[in-house]
Amino acid sequence: MNLNLFGHDGQWLMVDCGVTFEDDKIAMADPQFIESRRDALVGIIVTHIHQDHIGALPDLWERLKAPIYTTRFTAKVLDRAFAERGLWDVPIIVVETGDCLEIGAFDITWLPITHSTAETHALKITTCAGSVLHTADWKIDETPVVGIPFEHKTFAELEGIDAIVCDSTNATTPGVSVSEAVLYEGLYDCIAQANGRVVVSCFASNIARLQTLAEIASVTDRYIAIMGRSMRQLSEAAKACGYLNDRFNPTDPDHLGYLPREEVMAIASGNQGDVGSALYRLALDTHPDLNLEAGDLVVLSAKTIPGNEEKVDRLVERFEQRDIRVILGDNSNAPLHATGHPQQGELADIYGLVKPQLAIPVHGESVHMQANADIARACGVPDQLVGVNGDLFVIAGSQAPCIRTGAVEAGRLYRR
Ligand SMILES: [Zn+2]
Ligand SMILES: [Zn+2]
Repeated sequence: MNLNLFGHDGQWLMVDCGVTFEDDKIAMADPQFIESRRDALVGIIVTHIHQDHIGALPDLWERLKAPIYTTRFTAKVLDRAFAERGLWDVPIIVVETGDCLEIGAFDITWLPITHSTAETHALKITTCAGSVLHTADWKIDETPVVGIPFEHKTFAELEGIDAIVCDSTNATTPGVSVSEAVLYEGLYDCIAQANGRVVVSCFASNIARLQTLAEIASVTDRYIAIMGRSMRQLSEAAKACGYLNDRFNPTDPDHLGYLPREEVMAIASGNQGDVGSALYRLALDTHPDLNLEAGDLVVLSAKTIPGNEEKVDRLVERFEQRDIRVILGDNSNAPLHATGHPQQGELADIYGLVKPQLAIPVHGESVHMQANADIARACGVPDQLVGVNGDLFVIAGSQAPCIRTGAVEAGRLYRR
């Protein structure tokens, strides 16, 4: 449930406003601190479409009322989320990759960075006191299938970065992440050998994965259909923004039942075993549009999020009881899924490129943030500060970098 506030000279800038999933509840940061001084909030920047970065905006925006700045695809996704809540007058200012904008006391530059969804942006945030690089969620992917490849130059050319606020999700994982483009081979091998219907499940927001699957469908003579509401909405938004090419040309899911089995490829959401999802209903054979049979194939092009193992196991069992084979991304030889977050090698690379004075690890459990800080130290970043929700990080000014612990009361709210 990412929510960052950058403060300077009596003004505040918010970056992202997301949710987290706690058991069956949806939680978000209590914005009370910034709500009580919302006249000082000059804007809200959204880095990318993932729910842990945008999900709370429809819940909280009326309490903040600041203009939102983001790029086109993210704006399209946000527009729909607001409309679904009956919010029609939210000011969303659409910026372009590479833009520099002055928002109150902050000069912002939108830098393209690669991640597991399209159009993710890191931010260079500058005031007269100093500069921060806020990485957003990222990885180094030079062949991301969709969108702008990672450019080392973009980050090497940044000068005078006082602090980097950096994704820690995979900081305990050695090596570097797999590129999205590498997945074609493993996915092709699974699908090309199938004689019956194929269902592939991936995360709805992974636009590059949809493109890869569309390419494979095309060369294996299968029609694709998108099953799952958010996947359909996100793919439509991505197509409208030019992110999916002509090979991505889905048919209606209710046509699938009339096609020969070997010409069917359904792309379904629900790889975490969520009750009611498209994949769950296919497992129970209660989906109105498609019934799978013995000999069909299900591919999970995803990793099981810790905590969901039981749900996924139950899903797999349901298919296997019906002699429907399941290939899991978690334990296949060729990679069927790529993480969107930097592993240790990539963290070392970014510290080497940006050469910040201070590293502030975020986005992870404390073990991940500590591991990220250790990498920063090993890479010669002079200072590292690891805090918790509600801490205030003093980055520049007369004082040396430090944390004011518990400067802000940081509670949680739950969506009703
Ligand atoms: Zn993300
Ligand atoms: Zn995230």
